[in-house]
Amino acid sequence: SPALRVVEWSDVADWWPPLGPTSEKYSRGVVGVATGSATYPGAAVLSVGGALAGPTGLVRYAGGARDEVVREHPSVIATGRVADAGRVQAWVCGSGLGTDERAATELRTVLAAPVPVVLDADALTLLVDGSLADQLRRRDAPIVVTPHDREFTRLCGEEPGADRVAATLRLAAWMNAVVLLKGDRTVVGTPDGQAYVNPTGTPALATGGTGDVLAGLLGSLLAAGLPADRAAAAAAYLHGLAGREAARGGPVTAPDVAAALRPVLARLP
Ligand code: AMP
Ligand code: MG
Repeated sequence: SPALRVVEWSDVADWWPPLGPTSEKYSRGVVGVATGSATYPGAAVLSVGGALAGPTGLVRYAGGARDEVVREHPSVIATGRVADAGRVQAWVCGSGLGTDERAATELRTVLAAPVPVVLDADALTLLVDGSLADQLRRRDAPIVVTPHDREFTRLCGEEPGADRVAATLRLAAWMNAVVLLKGDRTVVGTPDGQAYVNPTGTPALATGGTGDVLAGLLGSLLAAGLPADRAAAAAAYLHGLAGREAARGGPVTAPDVAAALRPVLARLP
């Protein structure tokens, strides 16, 4: 049977990158966010919000919602296209990106970068198209895909079913990617059969845009140098705690979750 671990606070604290007196913004890591579009600027604002809450020193945004992103998050360096974004240590791609030719080009440019990537939402829809599957298999740097159940079903051709750990590990092995299957108890699985279960989920997170915040946070952890499996498990854990923290103030919206990541992360060493 595969190695299965329930994520704990002490794991996340152990994995967390240290911030020392000699840290500077580039040494903390730079995360690139290729999300959103003129049609879906909110997805860009939320994923960048998740990325900004994480341990990296700099967020670069590349996409069709630069005005909205910079208005909401003035510390972000924004360009229109991934190819113009400059160097990053990880990319987040997908939420609100759309599925047109421009979106496919941006995804291909992200996949061509020799750095870890998070693929979510529209990037997963684009992946189902076979011409990208090839580029995926040829990729050396880690890929983390973050499907909810419907996205999993489209990727996999079948529903996750009752054994969500087995389903996650099947998709991870097949895609040669780390899979983060979202839900009540989010599961993270690796191609070599390691699995993590997140115990911090809350139904308060079942509201539009919270997955975009998660993808941004996860990208920040990858860019900060965490291995893909730990980055995914830690992101799910902290995102769940932020959902609980946000719910103390009443009904939760996705921007509340992004804001609540700060007090949660402040408790890390
Ligand atoms: P998305 O559907 O992409 O916006 O992602 C939704 C986020 O909310 C994921 O992080 C899920 O794990 C989380 N979520 C949704 N429903 C629940 C639930 N009932 N319990 C715990 N977490 C949930
Ligand atoms: Mg989503």
